[in-house]
Amino acid sequence: MAKIGMKTPLVEIDGDEMTRVLWEVIKEKLLLPFIDLKTEYYDLGLANRDNTNDEITVQSAEAIKKYGVGVKCATITANSARQKEYNLKHLHPSPNATIRAILDGTVFRKPISVDRIKPSVNTWKAPIVIGRHAYGDVYKAAEMEIDGPGKVELVYTKADGTEQRVTVADFKGSGIVQGMHNLDESIKSFARACFLYAIAEKIPLWFATKDTISKTYDGRFKTIFNEIYETEFKEKCANAGIEYFYTLIDDAVARVVKSEGGFLWACKNYDGDVQSDMIASAAGSLAMMTSVLVSPTGVFEYEAAHGTVQQHYYRWQKGEKTSTNPAALIFAWSGALAKRGELDGTPDLSGFAKRLEDAVLSTINDGIMTGDLFKLSDPPPQKILNSWEFIDAIAARL
Ligand code: NAP
Ligand code: MG
Repeated sequence: MAKIGMKTPLVEIDGDEMTRVLWEVIKEKLLLPFIDLKTEYYDLGLANRDNTNDEITVQSAEAIKKYGVGVKCATITANSARQKEYNLKHLHPSPNATIRAILDGTVFRKPISVDRIKPSVNTWKAPIVIGRHAYGDVYKAAEMEIDGPGKVELVYTKADGTEQRVTVADFKGSGIVQGMHNLDESIKSFARACFLYAIAEKIPLWFATKDTISKTYDGRFKTIFNEIYETEFKEKCANAGIEYFYTLIDDAVARVVKSEGGFLWACKNYDGDVQSDMIASAAGSLAMMTSVLVSPTGVFEYEAAHGTVQQHYYRWQKGEKTSTNPAALIFAWSGALAKRGELDGTPDLSGFAKRLEDAVLSTINDGIMTGDLFKLSDPPPQKILNSWEFIDAIAARL
């Protein structure tokens, strides 16, 4: 069989632990037999990030800017435990945060829905997509430990040298403090990306913040979203027959659980981080959540929403064939290949990506699945497969 060709390389970003193990298997069994795979490879495994002083992470983000489409494996965000475990020279920031800061943009997370897998929230009939702002707030914050009494202020020194100050707190004892920021331009692109996504998918857009408490900070998010809606998207939304709806974050959370699903929920960075894991586990499994970063300049980075599945990796190291679900990792590849095909005008490549996704869905629908889906499957499967058996079953269909 002739393999499907590619014009432009994909930026391939390798990662850590169990997802790195599965990354290889997915390429070997599901991609290389069918595609003449062209990638520019960046090894973001923790050891290589440490060896390159994290330069490799910056290079991989620059490569995504250059080529337009990247696919990324999950990576460890190092902490002090990891520093010991991997004997690291430095504790670098989360690679995802570094990449997102370079590409800016919005992360869209959508659960993979399969008829046989019932969401825990039984009113949900259609997927809830999270649109997560990928810049700033607590992910780019300055923090300080306060070791005793004293005053903490925010000082803004303007370009002309004049100052604006506000007191954060008068500490009577020890404590902690944090300063975070966002940019109007970034919030505007976040809003635009969400409206464009909602219009393209013909689903309503919800946005929520805590602007009753954070009147200036969250208030600005609300104002900018509303301005972008009024000036750029009101008519387009009306034409597409979709609604834009703003509410408080706590009200949104309550409504989401009672909803039928089928909308885009735009979230600030932290809300999106947390709520996407809630949506993912309620919709099925963390392993069934896809994720794509869409930058305002139109570049795309696809990944799985879950982490490196650390505990499974330790069991794999001891020789166990774990039942780790590769679905979201496979969808990261299929998403990236489909987008590459679309941008390059190579429909064979996009067609392959669609067939790969169909193969995953039909395998699960036929009751062939990994352990994380077992309890959610109605009817339950005959047996639980390990990752290798599951990938072989997908390959057989493909
Ligand atoms: P995790 O890797 O997402 O795993 C948490 C738990 O969720 C697992 O222990 C497992 O539950 C379940 N799970 C997640 N993915 C699964 C899959 N594909 N198949 C089956 N079960 C799955 O999160 P973590 O353990 O908190 O983090 C591990 C490392 O990942 C950390 O170093 C963190 O920094 C990193 N991380 C990276 C990213 C990223 O690169 N995008 C995102 C999040 C975390 P059971 O153990 O019950 O089976
Ligand atoms: Mg998270």
